[in-house]
Amino acid sequence: MPTRRRAATLSPALLAVATAIVVAGLVLGFVAGRGGFSNDPLSAVLPAPKPAAVPGPSARRVSPAPVSPRSGTTFPRPSGRAHETVGRVAVIFDDAGSSLEELEEIIAIGRPVTVAVLPGLRFSAAVAERAKSAGLEVILHLPLEADDSSQDVGPAGITVSMSDGEIEERVRAALTSLPGVIGVNNHMGSKGTADERVMRAVLRVVRERNLLFVDSVTSSRSVAGQIAREMGIRTVSRQVFLDNEDETGAIRAQFRRAIGIARRRGDAVAIGHAQRLTAQVLQQMLGEFDRSGIQLVPISALTQ
Ligand SMILES: [Zn+2]
Repeated sequence: MPTRRRAATLSPALLAVATAIVVAGLVLGFVAGRGGFSNDPLSAVLPAPKPAAVPGPSARRVSPAPVSPRSGTTFPRPSGRAHETVGRVAVIFDDAGSSLEELEEIIAIGRPVTVAVLPGLRFSAAVAERAKSAGLEVILHLPLEADDSSQDVGPAGITVSMSDGEIEERVRAALTSLPGVIGVNNHMGSKGTADERVMRAVLRVVRERNLLFVDSVTSSRSVAGQIAREMGIRTVSRQVFLDNEDETGAIRAQFRRAIGIARRRGDAVAIGHAQRLTAQVLQQMLGEFDRSGIQLVPISALTQ
């Protein structure tokens, strides 16, 4: 019978097709079971979600900064959603000592930034005292001779023509005028920080007072950080100058540079001036720091 014959002859072909379907089903099921496909039918038409941003391979997890034992003040944790800390930035506000109003802008940021006070200015001692009482770390901003002789180091500054004894005496006098400082960084100093003898004399006093040293790196020829390390002094060097271009957009870009460096290598030191604009830009960017996982820390958290 034609029908039966056809059925009989088609039968192996149908069997092959059925087998193929079963095999394909098993393969698909296996792949799906391994996560190759989503059970969600929408995934077939929607783009796959982007993986969460992860830091580069060199970024390291860091624990929260210790609260400065000297300050006795704890700063509030960033509000809102908790962000994992992937890096730390210390911001130093240089050239403080001429204005208490500008210091209030810095205190109002509400984060543990560091204030570097020039010795011998009208409000030097008052600024140091007020910053300390607000829980901020304070360091001496020591004027050192620059290559450009038109930049005066002032009566409390260090020049390369001074003897070791004179240099040590000046540094001690400056430290005595600002009780409670926890360290020293250089103001100007392209000539002074390139002079090994001068830096050894400065750093002897830093070591004798058990202070830390921050190389502001005002010159690529600075040997200050290297000598401090050799002398066993806790030290760190500046990576970013924040406000050489004194304009909101430029300062914001420099803060972002500091964030980028901290995300890559774990930490960064950024130096700006103790002035309203720099403080305000930082305050406006606190959310960006938090979302980037970058914690603002006092300078003592980054010295080694
Ligand atoms: Zn300075």
